[in-house]
Amino acid sequence: MAERVAANPQIQPVWNSQVTEILDVGKDMVTGVSLKNTVTGEESTLDCAGVFVAVGHLPNTDIFAGKIDLDEAGYVKPVIGTATNQPGVFAAGDVADRIYRQAITAAGTGCAAAIEAERYLASF
Ligand SMILES: Cc1cc2nc3c(=O)[nH]c(=O)nc-3n(C[C@H](O)[C@H](O)[C@H](O)COP(=O)(O)OP(=O)(O)OC[C@H]3O[C@@H](n4cnc5c(N)ncnc54)[C@H](O)[C@@H]3O)c2cc1C
Repeated sequence: MAERVAANPQIQPVWNSQVTEILDVGKDMVTGVSLKNTVTGEESTLDCAGVFVAVGHLPNTDIFAGKIDLDEAGYVKPVIGTATNQPGVFAAGDVADRIYRQAITAAGTGCAAAIEAERYLASF
């Protein structure tokens, strides 16, 4: 992804910077962001018409480590369908999907996991 970003002339990376304010939201619009350089402390403004917050790529699965099988990147390893290695524990959505990570695929696997959970409970 980093290589694709670097090779795209339409993307201008702004390194070592923290967004400190989104400008003009009080007027129901975005006209730019205030930035603070995390190395020099220098403050600047970047003009833009929108802000899209991305939250990173680490699945939030630490609490399951040692309890259900995770792969080396921390994604839940499904055994079959949404079933994990722990009977009765099913995984759906981004935590078990290192490829697509989209709302619709998460919803689909959520549906599958719910069906599997119902079948599991009905088996007793
Ligand atoms: C900026 C951005 C833009 C996106 N745009 C699109 C798009 O345009 N189209 C698209 O299809 N997908 C998009 N996605 C991806 C989509 O949001 C995700 O694929 C989807 O939300 C995954 O759903 P999920 O239920 O698996 O996880 P999440 O939506 O992340 O839900 C996980 C939930 O678990 C909660 N949680 C975490 N830890 C705990 C805990 N210990 N105890 C209890 N609760 C906990 C969280 O608070 C959260 O509510 C976007 C994602 C981002 C970040």
